[in-house]
Amino acid sequence: MAKHTQQSAILQELVEQHQLVQGDPCPACSCQLYRTTMYQWPKPVCVRCYPPRGYHEWSDQVDALYPRKRVS
Ligand SMILES: [Zn+2]
Repeated sequence: MAKHTQQSAILQELVEQHQLVQGDPCPACSCQLYRTTMYQWPKPVCVRCYPPRGYHEWSDQVDALYPRKRVS
């Protein structure tokens, strides 16, 4: 299986499991996964900058999909 296909499958699973949406790359961390279900946030927020409960369990997958920006 091609790497790209694998990543798409992981991405889709994350989106479905955690009720996420994909958006423009976050300016702070380049992650493209946002959550919208939390009532305290009026706008979708990036899952890495505003990690939801239990985020540590799947943060590795997000990091793999969207490598963190290196501090230069
Ligand atoms: Zn972010």
